[in-house]
Amino acid sequence: MPGAYHQLLDATIGHLESLKQRGVRYVDASPESLSLLAEPAAQERTATPTSQAASTIIVQRHDEPSVYDSPKLTAADKEFAMTKLRHEALACTQCEPLVATRTQVVFGVGTVHADLMLIGEAPGLDEDKEGEPFVGAAGQLLTKIIEATGLDRDKVYIANILKCRPDTPGKIYGNRKPRPEEMETCFPWVKRQIEIIQPKVMVALGGTAVEGLLGEMPSGITRMRGNWQAYRGVPVMPTFHPSYLLRNQSWTIKRHVWEDMMQVMERLNMPISEKQRSYFQRR
Ligand code: SF4
Repeated sequence: MPGAYHQLLDATIGHLESLKQRGVRYVDASPESLSLLAEPAAQERTATPTSQAASTIIVQRHDEPSVYDSPKLTAADKEFAMTKLRHEALACTQCEPLVATRTQVVFGVGTVHADLMLIGEAPGLDEDKEGEPFVGAAGQLLTKIIEATGLDRDKVYIANILKCRPDTPGKIYGNRKPRPEEMETCFPWVKRQIEIIQPKVMVALGGTAVEGLLGEMPSGITRMRGNWQAYRGVPVMPTFHPSYLLRNQSWTIKRHVWEDMMQVMERLNMPISEKQRSYFQRR
């Protein structure tokens, strides 16, 4: 997308001018940020985060260095790096069939300063239309779950493994699971999101998100949920996808998800009230 770099540059200049008008004379900017600004945007050279062939299979991710080994970014650097990444991702055209049918790339939503990241699998019809992950019925349920912990959508970061809606040739409705090669091709975007945010905890929503994040699925989500995993040093709690909760109104499944979220709250040192502990206790 020609001009995306200049849009980013204009936004940065506009932001600096507004700070100047408010009397700010100095801003915190690391050498990394300055070199990123000076560098022509990657999307203007190429819109691809990787040159992996579309047929690549999902790779194990255990050997990569810890996310926390990356240099700590200042708040301003995080904002800048995520804005730059968003501009690059929105121009991505690596998966031809998905590009042909998508309305837009669904990048992610929330704050880059989040302690908690929630990762889903791929945009559906509503998300493709709105450009935001988890806005349909499953998204509304996810919002309720987040709010039940005492957080809200603005205090977490939500993203999908796959940024474009999987195409469904010959069908107008319905979603399909992303293919391993699609997830692998798209993975560098969410990988960078995680590296920028450096969350304290992640929640993987559903088996496909676990598979995309960890590069493997040692057992089904029913067995994995509630058991801590790790992505490059970041604790990952696998749990059921909200759309599964919508399809399966079982009290036990709901209780399992809430138990998983309470583990997340404990890991984040969030207070848990008696009311929260007893949400799904049998009376
Ligand atoms: S799914 Fe990911 S890698 Fe493929 S075109 Fe969309 S953003 Fe690019």
